[in-house]
Amino acid sequence: MVDCSSQFTLNRFARPLRPRALSGAGAMVEQTVWCVNNDPCGICCVGVTYLLICFADFVVCTQLLVPWLGLTANCCMLCVAFLAVSGLALASHMRTMLTDPGAVPAEYQPANLLHDEGALPMCSRCNGFKPPRAHHCSQCDRCIMKMDHHCPWVNNCVGANNQKHFVLFVGYTALMSGFAMALLGCRMMYGMAEPMHGGRDRFGYTASSSSAGRGAEQPAAVMYMLLLFFESILFGLFTSAMMCEQLASILGDQTGIERLKNDYAPAESKSAMRNLSETFGRPVSLLWLLPTPVRFNGLTWWDMIPLELASPHEV
Ligand SMILES: [Zn+2]
Ligand SMILES: [Zn+2]
Repeated sequence: MVDCSSQFTLNRFARPLRPRALSGAGAMVEQTVWCVNNDPCGICCVGVTYLLICFADFVVCTQLLVPWLGLTANCCMLCVAFLAVSGLALASHMRTMLTDPGAVPAEYQPANLLHDEGALPMCSRCNGFKPPRAHHCSQCDRCIMKMDHHCPWVNNCVGANNQKHFVLFVGYTALMSGFAMALLGCRMMYGMAEPMHGGRDRFGYTASSSSAGRGAEQPAAVMYMLLLFFESILFGLFTSAMMCEQLASILGDQTGIERLKNDYAPAESKSAMRNLSETFGRPVSLLWLLPTPVRFNGLTWWDMIPLELASPHEV
């Protein structure tokens, strides 16, 4: 059992404080698994996201690269590279969706409660204290530390504990869109006029034509590539804009909702690397590029929460 008197001291060996579900809460918490299950729109958006990613994989590999380049080493390398980026996007999405974004523990009490009872606001929805930089999310039905926004595309809040994964998700999705656009562009410029790889085709294309390019002969493939083009433009722009906005929030040490409500401003200006490390973990490492759990010199965010809660930053 966790000793209540020491639960907010920084202790590597202390059992991490886990969030607990409130009665009737929309966010279901079982041990370390977090899943928001009361938002049909969010669940639909997640399904659409996975469909779109799988569609892009399908079109790039089977409709664009193989018919164009044949089963060559170059084709395999490009397929593997594209699938790797989409795999990273999917893994980052799942990690964002299934990670507790930083729900304030139901049993949270400020350390100075006895002396300064009125210092912290209460959340009437959670029926508990609301630490600095926490905001209540009606979808998750919890107060979330450093809540940025609730994103239906990942069916979760973006907060202190999963913002890294969200940034990776939008970053890899933007990269995937750019990759698809580049391949489509090359296919348009170099591929359409080239003869087909008739003998090596394994996807049911006929190699009977004499000189025309494959794209002109395969209306279905052209339609797929056209759809991929629009998908890449739309989601490439959307995720690029979201990535810039997220990085601006992280570097400015001010979340989206704090900027909207104007209820917090950083007391001191910190270096860009310091601000990035508060979201991506410490020390700086290549793990920043992978959707691995965030660690602060070996400690989890739940080990760090006492420090977060002990330092009020409100304006
Ligand atoms: Zn609340
Ligand atoms: Zn939420």
